[in-house]
Amino acid sequence: MRYIYSAVLLICAVLGFFYSTRVFYNDNYKKSTFRLFALMSLNSGFWSLGFGVMFALDNCEIFKLFRIIGMIGVIFLIISGQMLISVVVRRVKNRYPLILAELVSGAIFIIVSNMPGSYTLSVTDMGVISAEEGFILSIVHVIYIACIFGVFVYMVFDTIRSDYPKRIKSFGKSCMAVVLFIMVGIGIDIVLMLFDIANNVPATSILQFFGIEVIYNSVHRINRNRIYMENMTGYIYNSLRSPVLVFDVNHKLQLINRAAGSFFAMDEYGVDKWSWSSVFDMEPPKAITDKETTDIYDVEYGVSNINCRLYVNSIFDEYNDRVGYIVVVTDMTEQIRAMKAIEQAKDAAESANKAKSMFLANMSHEIRTPMNSILGFSELGLRDDTLEKSKEYFSDIHESAEILLATINEILDISKLESGKLELVCADYYPSALFKDVALIINMQAKRKNLKFDMDIADEIPNKLYGDKARIREILINLLNNGVKYTNEGAVSLKAQLISKKEDMCRLRFVITDTGIGIKAEDIKLIFDSFRRCDHTINSRTEGTGLGLSITKGFVELMDGDISVSSVYGKGSVFTVEIDQKIIEDKQMGITYNEDISDKRTKVRFNNLKVLAVDDNMINLKVVTNVLDMYGIAADTVNSGEKAIEKCKENDYDIILMDQMMPVMDGVMAMKRIRELNRGYEHGGPHKIIVLTANTVNGMRQEMLDIGFDGFLGKPVNFNVIEKVFMEMYPDSYCIVEDDD
Ligand code: ADP
Repeated sequence: MRYIYSAVLLICAVLGFFYSTRVFYNDNYKKSTFRLFALMSLNSGFWSLGFGVMFALDNCEIFKLFRIIGMIGVIFLIISGQMLISVVVRRVKNRYPLILAELVSGAIFIIVSNMPGSYTLSVTDMGVISAEEGFILSIVHVIYIACIFGVFVYMVFDTIRSDYPKRIKSFGKSCMAVVLFIMVGIGIDIVLMLFDIANNVPATSILQFFGIEVIYNSVHRINRNRIYMENMTGYIYNSLRSPVLVFDVNHKLQLINRAAGSFFAMDEYGVDKWSWSSVFDMEPPKAITDKETTDIYDVEYGVSNINCRLYVNSIFDEYNDRVGYIVVVTDMTEQIRAMKAIEQAKDAAESANKAKSMFLANMSHEIRTPMNSILGFSELGLRDDTLEKSKEYFSDIHESAEILLATINEILDISKLESGKLELVCADYYPSALFKDVALIINMQAKRKNLKFDMDIADEIPNKLYGDKARIREILINLLNNGVKYTNEGAVSLKAQLISKKEDMCRLRFVITDTGIGIKAEDIKLIFDSFRRCDHTINSRTEGTGLGLSITKGFVELMDGDISVSSVYGKGSVFTVEIDQKIIEDKQMGITYNEDISDKRTKVRFNNLKVLAVDDNMINLKVVTNVLDMYGIAADTVNSGEKAIEKCKENDYDIILMDQMMPVMDGVMAMKRIRELNRGYEHGGPHKIIVLTANTVNGMRQEMLDIGFDGFLGKPVNFNVIEKVFMEMYPDSYCIVEDDD
């Protein structure tokens, strides 16, 4: 019989050792509860091994060794059980002294109770039997084991009685079962021994092994219910607000999360009744039929047509076979509503912007038409042989009208810049002509204030460039204008340098210096803001809108350039602009600036030019005819497109100045009709049609030229521009005469 007991115990030992190593599978050893369980199993193995071998032996010497192993198993199994409970209930710290004391006392106990003479051995037909030497040692033996077992039982009771979470209480109940196993085992052992039925029956040893199995399951359960990577999927799955559905390859519903349950009004346990088509009422997704692994569908669900987006992802098993697909449902109702609101807001903003552009175009037209008359007549008045006093009045009117026009232009420019409508209009140009033009204007202004104007243009600047000449001119004039405006004595200068040249690109630097009032350090960062004027006490006497620098900066940025300023208050300022330009012709420019150029008073006369002016506004017609008259041109006039066509049937005009906006037939239509009538007016032909328009919004010039006009003149008509355009078109028909004045 004893060999059967022995064999059973040795099997228990092997299983105990196996259990202690099993935690190394599935990464369980990373969790402290599993590590402690492994320790318990190891001790259980020692317990079974010790007693198992002891039963089988007749040899006292080997018996002694396995008696020690058995004792180690018993004592340390109980202590490691206590450690496990302490970890589970998270009381390791305050139980640490007790457990340490038990470990030390356990070690001492094992040493003392195995010292020579502390016990006697007798060989019986049931094998070797040990007995403590003397009553006290036997009592100590029993009391020690009872004490540590008692502590274990106390800890087990604590887990059940205190207000721990359910998972800990459940763990405690499993430990309770282990306590019962051991108690029953002890009971069986004692009863059999007392009634002399059977000696050495290892009931406790065998039952403790079953306890180990119970504890293993319970450790598993406690870990399953904690937050670990392994169980996160379940937590995430159920905590997602979006419904999640899992289908198999046959499109049968397998799993749903809680959100899906409430969204689709489905019972979690009746999901197998559903399939893809019964849920979504459409063909199965591609993600499962094709090679695709993901798919997106927009569907309307339910009676209230909720807009849903379905994200379908295939799922694969360990062998990389497709086993089904997972569908995440996103309720798009809110998003779609928000998108519609954004679209509506965008449409509203776009139409407001369109209305603004329309307003700008109209305003430009409406204001420029009367400005045309004011500027035109005042200039005519100035050039006419009128009284000295009247000339003075005309001069004042003309000057004020120019300031008003400049302000209108600034407001138009800034609104276009702010609405992002301003685009560069680039073309080939000669920088020398640009600098001469700028010098002419600024020199005149500087002279009026008794200031010196210097211009220093580097020779290396290429002869011909590609860029927006008009905007560069505006930048330079704005900055130089300010220089003159804010300087009372001294000089204003423009320096143009070539700072780098790479392939067909070059970088130009313009330095505008003045010896004026300067800008306070704290104002420097503000001067580029729209409508911002600094130094009010001084500036209140100088006219300005506070827009010039902001427009200048806008233009420079549009050209991807840089603008900077340095100034010493009371001494003067330096504005520096850098821009890149494309090189068209890389010959040296070699400009010589002659200060007297502006003073040369000459007159241009055109001989034998036949001109027709077409405009529905009688005053405009009067201005144009008077201006042309100054150049020796007696122009015909008509006030509509239809009449212009009639006139063209009778005469061949060298130039037709055609107003763009006219009632009934606009300028564009009239141009087309005239060309149909007489091929001589065709684009590039001998007779020219020039559009005359008050609509000078950005890009208008190009638009008109693209439509087919031979030239473009903006209102208010500028004498110099008309002169220039006519001279370019008919270079043989003009002559220059000295002014009589
Ligand atoms: P405006 O000249 O019409 O007031 P700007 O935008 O051209 O508007 O200039 C903004 C402000 O910057 C001016 O009001 C002036 O205070 C200051 N400022 C600009 N240029 C100069 C300068 N060269 N010297 C001194 N102050 C200047």
